[in-house]
Amino acid sequence: MTAPFSWIRPEPWGIHVVPADAWVDPSRPVPRALVTHGHADHARGGHGATFATPATLAIMELRYQTREGAVPVAYGETLSIGGGVNATFLPAGHVLGSAQILLEHAGERVIITGDYKRAPDPTCAPFEVTPCDIFITEATFGLPVFTHPPIDEEIAKLLDARADNPDSCVLVGAYALGKAQRVIAELRAAGHSDTIWLHGAMEAMCRLYEEHGVPLGDLRLVSDAPSKEAMRGHIILAPPSALNDRWSRRLPDPVTAMASGWMRVRQRARQRGVELPLVISDHADWNELTRTITEVNPQETWITHGREEALLRWCELNQRRARALALVGYEDEDD
Ligand SMILES: [Zn+2]
Ligand SMILES: [Zn+2]
Repeated sequence: MTAPFSWIRPEPWGIHVVPADAWVDPSRPVPRALVTHGHADHARGGHGATFATPATLAIMELRYQTREGAVPVAYGETLSIGGGVNATFLPAGHVLGSAQILLEHAGERVIITGDYKRAPDPTCAPFEVTPCDIFITEATFGLPVFTHPPIDEEIAKLLDARADNPDSCVLVGAYALGKAQRVIAELRAAGHSDTIWLHGAMEAMCRLYEEHGVPLGDLRLVSDAPSKEAMRGHIILAPPSALNDRWSRRLPDPVTAMASGWMRVRQRARQRGVELPLVISDHADWNELTRTITEVNPQETWITHGREEALLRWCELNQRRARALALVGYEDEDD
């Protein structure tokens, strides 16, 4: 008889599912990978076989130009991955295609969330609360100071800034996978039907979202603008790295905004020269993290990455067993 949960082993470069010899979100190439979502710190190229949702595989194909060894798994579908282990991919509400992975072996149930959030997002399927014995959660915003406001409030600020600056433009820094499409979809939901201008680095991912059933309305590339004048009074989206570089000189007097959970920290906004910080995150905030652990109600909580100390302490105060895993290579700095 083997020890409980000895089949699931956290290693620095990923979580090893021992009997199936598979890894979840490994940070180095492995023969068999289960990938939660397409962000570069979780999805890497070069694996032998990659099990992921069809949307995540499409995102990986776009980024790594390969589909070799791709095994698509639909939400809710249970797959036998060998060694008596079953894997089920469940929506995580983080970005298009993002999944929590439920692993079952010898009557034991483990969920690895990848990144997730509980706030509504029109661009992806909502997080599903699913019972399990061990819940392996992220903790990117695992401090009580991190509370994300309702997204409508932040979108209203963006639309106000645009209305207040008819002779310039509002340049929004947003992560190219997920955040950009969510901001656009929320602008559309708020009734903003005007052209939204894009940095070239966002075009392919926006098209991929549209191909997966997320309409984004009238999008045009800044590089195709007939003149600076054409962009006056408009909203422009670019990756955060483009906010202060030469590229932005072609824009008409931009008011600089950034959509990120880190915008809660004024210092971070100042460092980037952001005039309009928008607290919009695709990660669970403190309340979502603690609420999710309460609802899932596992025997044990393992914390993969982020600010784990406060969440560990919270678990302890609430008589919940928990441990922090020292995984390497996960960065959510722009999220
Ligand atoms: Zn992510
Ligand atoms: Zn992450």
